[in-house]
Amino acid sequence: MKITLLYGGQSAEHDISIISAHNIAQSIMYDVYTVQPIYITRAGEWIKGPLIDTSLPNSDLMRLVPAEEMTWGDDAKASTGQAMRPGELDREDNIVFPVLHGPNGEDGTIQGFLEVMGVPYVGAGVTASAIGMDKILSKRIFDQIGLPQVPYHAFDHRLWREDQEEIIQRIEGSLLYPLFVKPANMGSSVGISQVESSEALIQAIENALQYDHRIVVEQGISAVECEVAILGNEEAHISYVGKLIKDVAFYDYEEKYINNRIEMEIPAILDPAVASKIQEYALRAYRAIDGCGLSRVDFFVTSSQDIYINEINTMPGFTGLSMYPVLWEKTGLTQRNLVEELLQLALKKYEQKK
Ligand code: ATP
Ligand code: MG
Ligand code: MG
Ligand code: MG
Repeated sequence: MKITLLYGGQSAEHDISIISAHNIAQSIMYDVYTVQPIYITRAGEWIKGPLIDTSLPNSDLMRLVPAEEMTWGDDAKASTGQAMRPGELDREDNIVFPVLHGPNGEDGTIQGFLEVMGVPYVGAGVTASAIGMDKILSKRIFDQIGLPQVPYHAFDHRLWREDQEEIIQRIEGSLLYPLFVKPANMGSSVGISQVESSEALIQAIENALQYDHRIVVEQGISAVECEVAILGNEEAHISYVGKLIKDVAFYDYEEKYINNRIEMEIPAILDPAVASKIQEYALRAYRAIDGCGLSRVDFFVTSSQDIYINEINTMPGFTGLSMYPVLWEKTGLTQRNLVEELLQLALKKYEQKK
């Protein structure tokens, strides 16, 4: 059996995908698999890397990463990759692991392609990927199933160009500063700003519009951030709740990946009733979007123990330091077993559909 690791990709989360894929490759150690890395450049070209023999020492896995694209790490060897067309993807005895974060990877586009190709793949299908990536659509669905969320206001590029003043008035009429401005489709805090004034709000919206044509502005909330991991198809398992120990205003890209300032408390020290509510909400959100394989669900918990769902990530960061694999590790599932379980879940879903 072959595992195809698709990584890199055209989104702003390209670099994180490289680290995630590299980390996952190190957990595929079973004699039964070979690993075929396929690197997607920022321009969207597919580059087939050398087959990785998982029985070799870990250092060999560095060949997974094309050195010229590696912005983290150091000792990456040059890629010996060859350009390929996506349609040349192996359809026999192959499980694809699309380790891609953000638009064009985590949003249903690649998943649709893999459906058409008829290959098993890890993680969410088209619907869950598209909804999970879209902060506006997922909020609408969470509202509908009664999950508590911070108040928000959503609009698109066209409305903004037509009547900026009206939008600012509406936002300021219903929400209180500080506000969070987010592109609807993105991750890793890319394009997100926290703002305290109308002036900054306008700037933040213009900035977010560089990443997506749809925008969501949320009520900023003073709260701890808790995250929980889900693993499974129809029968989904849930991890301990983890808490982010925060000493910054909010977790922007820099704090997440460059300063590595995130510390985690797992299991989070929480009122047990709050922890189980979070787990229950997470599973309900997962079902509502038709989740499959894996997801990480993010929450806010205020000092008065109010819980708000923030978002669901259907292909969460999977680096060695990422919350998703670490939550499972602490819950009792090693990363190696976690990766194996994800592959088995992919096969199960594929068999069911046949
Ligand atoms: P990722 O997918 O990496 O988790 P993302 O780009 O999808 O991130 P969010 O999780 O929505 O973005 O927000 C990023 C961070 O910004 C949060 O982890 C939190 O620190 C802060 N944040 C977002 N929304 C709010 C809010 N309404 N109030 C307070 N803080 C917020
Ligand atoms: Mg996200
Ligand atoms: Mg994300
Ligand atoms: Mg988040």
